[in-house]
Amino acid sequence: VLRFKRPSEPPSFQTAVADARDNLAKKGGKGLTEKDFPSLWSEFKALFTDAQYGKCGYCESSVTGTQHGDVEHYRPKGSLQELPWDRARLGKEKPNSTSVDGRKLDPLCDEGYWWIAYEWSNYLLACAACNQVWKKCLFPIAEAPRCVPPMQGVHETPLLLNPFEGPDPADHLRFDKLGAIEPRDDSRFGRATIDTCGLDRLSLQGWRGPVAQEAARLAESLIVAEGHAHLGVRTGWSEEEILDKIRSLGDARRPYAGMVRIIVQEITDLSWDDITALS
Ligand SMILES: [Zn+2]
Repeated sequence: VLRFKRPSEPPSFQTAVADARDNLAKKGGKGLTEKDFPSLWSEFKALFTDAQYGKCGYCESSVTGTQHGDVEHYRPKGSLQELPWDRARLGKEKPNSTSVDGRKLDPLCDEGYWWIAYEWSNYLLACAACNQVWKKCLFPIAEAPRCVPPMQGVHETPLLLNPFEGPDPADHLRFDKLGAIEPRDDSRFGRATIDTCGLDRLSLQGWRGPVAQEAARLAESLIVAEGHAHLGVRTGWSEEEILDKIRSLGDARRPYAGMVRIIVQEITDLSWDDITALS
């Protein structure tokens, strides 16, 4: 939900993955098994963890300290699934659990985007729930029908929002004051991202809720006057104190900072750049 800067690819990466890449190229994507995808990317996880402040690239929950975290392939490497048309088959999180009930994804093919399994630009840090429980082998795109199996050189428009590039998540997602997420203006990107990663699961909303309420309360306490030049204040705090609290809550290192910024902008009409520039 927050935009991060992709870590630079270290020179050692190319050397580390050269053999695995050669093997895949030789086989041309045919008859691949798990053995053809040794998890060499794990060696480089710390770089993504650092760049993403230890947060999942999809749900923005904190990953470090509580779980291993996955180096997730944005485009699935081994096979491909599709979101079901019937929304009842998207599944629901079991109460007090990480598991999901009734999620029935449609298989598309046994081949994925194997040629970018060892491409730096295809990686991000994700939590186990977003990656393994919800996204699995999904990669929604705008084109329909799509090229199956996926082929190199075929242009596709990914609908899954990427924390490093492509459409800005803030233009496609919105949150209410209780932390519930929904697509902004019926955005297809927003819808597909929520459905793919299960971003509307209740446990997540539970974590986001108090942060969203705090963000909304602080934003509402700033009354934006004409031209954003002056801010009126409705609480006992000074304008500077409120701005400090908002900046702290929306600091990139904090979980759900992306949501905080979206909520603040919606209520005050001030972008995060505006908020940080105000004094
Ligand atoms: Zn996540």
